[in-house]
Amino acid sequence: MIDTHAHLTSLDDPDEAIARAAGAGVTRILTVGTSVEDGRRALALAERHDGVHAILGIHPHEAGTATADDLSALRELHAHPKAVAVGETGLDWFRDYAPRDDQRRLFAAELELAAELGKPVVIHTRAANEDTLADLLGFTGTVVLHCFSSPHLLPTALERGWYVSFAGNATFPKAVELRLAATEVPAGRILAETDSPYLAPQPVRGRPNEPANIVHTVAALAQARREEPEELAAQIERNAAACFGL
Ligand SMILES: [Zn+2]
Repeated sequence: MIDTHAHLTSLDDPDEAIARAAGAGVTRILTVGTSVEDGRRALALAERHDGVHAILGIHPHEAGTATADDLSALRELHAHPKAVAVGETGLDWFRDYAPRDDQRRLFAAELELAAELGKPVVIHTRAANEDTLADLLGFTGTVVLHCFSSPHLLPTALERGWYVSFAGNATFPKAVELRLAATEVPAGRILAETDSPYLAPQPVRGRPNEPANIVHTVAALAQARREEPEELAAQIERNAAACFGL
């Protein structure tokens, strides 16, 4: 199995979490670096572990302090063979940790970088769906909607062939609409992620999350889609391989 989005560098002991994941059959993990500094740590983990690859970007929360130097350092990190995607990037009007103009400028720069490198872009959008969609209009590369939580974005996502990645919140009892959305995603476009250490799925909800827990999310998605968990897990691995060039 694969966990397509984890923040291993935010876990207490990433190496142990990677070992526990392997014990649960989760042999591949995409870890996300959210700044240049964090990206270096993500790549160090990817170098130590065959099954770990890195998604490298500057998070919208960091947009207020990101400089042109940071962007060129990010571009340099992307020369690493285990750097497979740009992100997470996008717009967050919910937390508003960074000024909106700065977020939009950074998002545009990261989309440009992904286009230049020919790598997929991993999108974070929160309370900013319309603006995120508008900014993505001109982007023709591969798109992953990370931690998909807005069912009304689904028609656009499917029409444009984007990958839709479900996280632990899709397992929560009240997330009926989200699971319904999961039934509408074609086999070739569905992904699953933990977003560790956040958003632990049922039945481990409320605890720090880790990649081994992807099994719970895949099981819930499979149940909604009336598929066997093993089949869906294999499908997700194939999708991730195609999307991220693993
Ligand atoms: Zn994330």
